[in-house]
Amino acid sequence: MNSNPQMVAALAAAERGQRVFPLAPGSKYPALHGENDCPRTGGCEGGHLGWERRATADPGVIRRAWQVAPYNIGLACGPSGLVVVDLDVPKHRRDTPPARWGGQGVTDGRDVLAALCEQHGQSLPQTYEVRTGRGGAHLYFAAPTGVVLRNTCGEKGNGLGWKIDTRAYGGYVVAPGSVVNHRPYTVVNNTDPIRLPAWLLGLLTPKPTPTTVVDASAVRARIRRLGPYVDTAVARETAKIRETGEGGRNDRLFASAAALGRLVASGALPEPDATDALLGAGLKAGLGEAECRRTIANGLARSAGAVGRAA
Ligand SMILES: [Zn+2]
Repeated sequence: MNSNPQMVAALAAAERGQRVFPLAPGSKYPALHGENDCPRTGGCEGGHLGWERRATADPGVIRRAWQVAPYNIGLACGPSGLVVVDLDVPKHRRDTPPARWGGQGVTDGRDVLAALCEQHGQSLPQTYEVRTGRGGAHLYFAAPTGVVLRNTCGEKGNGLGWKIDTRAYGGYVVAPGSVVNHRPYTVVNNTDPIRLPAWLLGLLTPKPTPTTVVDASAVRARIRRLGPYVDTAVARETAKIRETGEGGRNDRLFASAAALGRLVASGALPEPDATDALLGAGLKAGLGEAECRRTIANGLARSAGAVGRAA
């Protein structure tokens, strides 16, 4: 059987319990067919499977795939039980850090991680590390149990910061043994991935939405601008919710959400405004926020569905 260095690397990854799939030779992109050209055969017989579902640690499957070509190795982080912190380097001279890093000597993702470590009184984590083709680094961590982390990108959302992405469920990394643009990905710290440190997990964990204090006057002002018809309807429904006693409040909230949902579905009332107005009334009636949000979403969805069916 033909072998190639990439096949050897893919088998080694599988031996470590990692789930891999082929990337096009010399590239970072999956070599698997896409949903639009799915032949509905093999693994896709029951419906198309994307790379995350097809990633495997089965040596037989890996040998068969990699003997076709020296595919690069895609490592599906979530199914492999890994969270990978991707420390990138600037792409060009003007790719400079945001102003708040100015004067701190920050030039790349590793510098930002070092600054984060300092802020949190931690040392730079020593774990399995890969040097990427462009000179960045992938730090591998064992994923925590009981929390499903997804990818983060730079500073957005729960992201760690400039030039730092994280890859977990929904993400893959180019694994060592791959070669992109003639530059190899190489292991620079060959040790078992350590568990994701608690302070990093804390930063990456999606925050529960804080208890909303709905700014009732701002919501009322927004809705008034939508015209007297919508304004009256919202005032009527929210009053009904506020005046309903314990026991009937949740049903009332649902009915009012369904009523306003018709205005949302027709485009007369923006959904966020409807939700805010209903939420304000629900909280005032003494319902909890999570319960309110669920009921409102269900009520609005009921009307959206009814309009959809009628159309
Ligand atoms: Zn398919």
